[in-house]
Amino acid sequence: MGWPVGHSRSPVIHNHWIAEHGLRGSYVLLPVAPDKLEQALRALPVLGFSGCNLTIPHKVAALSIVDRIDLLAARIGAINCIVVEPDGSLSGRNTDAFGYVQSLRDAQPDWQASAGPALVLGAGGAARAVIAGLLDSGVPSIRLTNRSPDKTHELVAAFGPQVVAVDWAERHAAVDGAALLVNTTNLGMQGQPALDLDLGALSLQALVSDVIYVPLETPLLAAAKLRGNATVNGLGMLLNQARPAFEAWFGVMPTISDALLGKVHASF
Ligand code: NAP
Repeated sequence: MGWPVGHSRSPVIHNHWIAEHGLRGSYVLLPVAPDKLEQALRALPVLGFSGCNLTIPHKVAALSIVDRIDLLAARIGAINCIVVEPDGSLSGRNTDAFGYVQSLRDAQPDWQASAGPALVLGAGGAARAVIAGLLDSGVPSIRLTNRSPDKTHELVAAFGPQVVAVDWAERHAAVDGAALLVNTTNLGMQGQPALDLDLGALSLQALVSDVIYVPLETPLLAAAKLRGNATVNGLGMLLNQARPAFEAWFGVMPTISDALLGKVHASF
């Protein structure tokens, strides 16, 4: 469910796994206007759905509609996955944090969370999941910078002293000493201006990641690759957030095969 939802690649992913595991059913896109979200969610058990994913703009609003959320979703303050329980009640989860960290591990098996501080750009929904995932994986500290400082301070208050606020104007200097740099802003997305960030002070050992997956190589990743940094794009996060959701609905943890990757790449 999203509004709009037509851009989503999730049907390609889940319908591949549904076929792979011989399940009867299908994953469908449901455009749901924000003021109809509660009615739509309450209809899920009646209509025989196992659950649903939520995308923009429903991830926060759904928190107060579902019957329960787990601790991670409460910390992140958003849910992207709902499970219809056998009694018809709705459980909310967040699988984006798992998806992000797993995407780093898949792309860079040598990545060590403990290698040093991370610099996170952006303080929206994606940033919340990335921060929770990184802290839970053992990243020692996070430098957080966002255009709107009030949101930076909100996240610092929510996640505690391991997260340190950096002024947006100071972001260029904050790359110095970072072991991981993550863009979670919309900057660099198709149709948006590129992220303006001077990578001059960034260690060549630092890993540079972007949660954006349209395009697969953002100007940030292209610049980082050119100077010799390892890079990770947002497609792995998208694919890996889908895995625990599928498991929650159907009891099997699916894998990201070459066949699935081929279908997803063909959808761009
Ligand atoms: P969001 O909650 O709306 O947050 C957007 C963020 O981008 C905010 O920090 C915002 O800063 C910043 N931003 C937007 N325009 C900006 C500009 N012109 N200059 C500076 N900062 C700007 O959105 P979201 O859900 O976090 O999503 C952010 C991105 O992550 C999107 O590109 C989305 O596609 C991607 N994403 C990817 C995955 C995945 O699975 N790979 C999952 C979720 C999201 P302000 O606070 O100042 O407005």
